[in-house]
Amino acid sequence: MSYLEWPEVYRKLGVKPVINAQSWVTVLGGSIMRKEVLEAMNDASKVFVDMIELNKSAGKFIAKICNSEAGLVTNGCASAQVLMSAACMTGEDDYKVEKLPNTGGMKNEIIIFKGQRNRYDKAFETSGAIIKEFGTEEGATEEDLISMISNKTCAIAYVIMPFYKPGIGLEKTIEIAHKNSIPVILDAAAEIPPRSNLHRFINMGVDMVAFSGGKGIGGPQSSGILAGREDLINSAFKNSLNLHSNIACVGRPMKVSKENIIGLVTALELYLDSNEEEEYQSWKEKSEYIKNQLKDIPYLDIKIENTPTDRQGTQPVLYFHNDWKGKSPEKIREEMINGDPPIYLGVGGSNLYEYMGEINIVMTNVMEGEEIIIADRLNKLLR
Ligand SMILES: *Cc1c(COP(=O)(O)O)cnc(C)c1O
Repeated sequence: MSYLEWPEVYRKLGVKPVINAQSWVTVLGGSIMRKEVLEAMNDASKVFVDMIELNKSAGKFIAKICNSEAGLVTNGCASAQVLMSAACMTGEDDYKVEKLPNTGGMKNEIIIFKGQRNRYDKAFETSGAIIKEFGTEEGATEEDLISMISNKTCAIAYVIMPFYKPGIGLEKTIEIAHKNSIPVILDAAAEIPPRSNLHRFINMGVDMVAFSGGKGIGGPQSSGILAGREDLINSAFKNSLNLHSNIACVGRPMKVSKENIIGLVTALELYLDSNEEEEYQSWKEKSEYIKNQLKDIPYLDIKIENTPTDRQGTQPVLYFHNDWKGKSPEKIREEMINGDPPIYLGVGGSNLYEYMGEINIVMTNVMEGEEIIIADRLNKLLR
């Protein structure tokens, strides 16, 4: 048995805790909520409330933080994506809301740069919309985008995630979309921190943006943030619950509980009150510890990187030279997972030609002292 605390609730089910150096990934449980968040959720669970009123008030809180006209707490970023696409098709028309996912008679095409297709964009189609790609996996021109726009276009989607290409870039995308009176919807699920991104994309002009609540912010794993234009958020809300005069809607399976709304709001408050520099500093210290422990291994370069768009938080990246003779990065990752406790590391992503592979060690979810265990285990496998 490992030294990790094994809470009774998991022990009962035989499910063991793991060390998460892979980031806020869903498959390892997102993030850990602060004690105050759990206390607030506990308080929230003690009484009944009017859910429309609660949703609206929480939405105003989100809007204030995101500097947007309106906001909504959603059941994860992926739900926010479903609601963004639904909103762009239905507007505030009850008849259309009720009709989805049947999109007959509606604008139902969402345009996206081919290089930004990803395993989450299914959520844009869950509402009934159809995705249309422009450009190639490598790049695109403004003309590629313009030629895809038609009277069926309901939105242009843009995605920011590690190692994904910008295509023509967000600014140009917004410019072209708005010239054609089409909204831009942005999936920026894991782009917080930095905290400034909460309002940055809105200030750039996106019509709606979606973030995960259960990643960097530390809210409930199944919570998310949707912020943007008032008319669009109103229609997202209409599509999100069947609280409104018995209108059936596609968002019903993604309802947010009162506890999760309060959890997200509380997590966001605490998150904004905490110091970003200190947070990065603690990740940097842990990174340096690991780098020092693993120094002087031939054919292995270790760099501490802080490139917010590609790396989540300051972290050490192990680069294996083409001449590397030891265990492959894949094998090392596998043996780290098979150890006790299981340790999950990042899968790299930069694919530099002078290296055969890489392993990144994401510090955002590594708890005090776990960096020592990670370094010890790696040392055994690498030397
Ligand atoms: C995590 C993620 C999502 C899904 O977010 P949830 O909050 O888990 O629903 C969507 N898009 C991207 C780019 C992500 O990283």
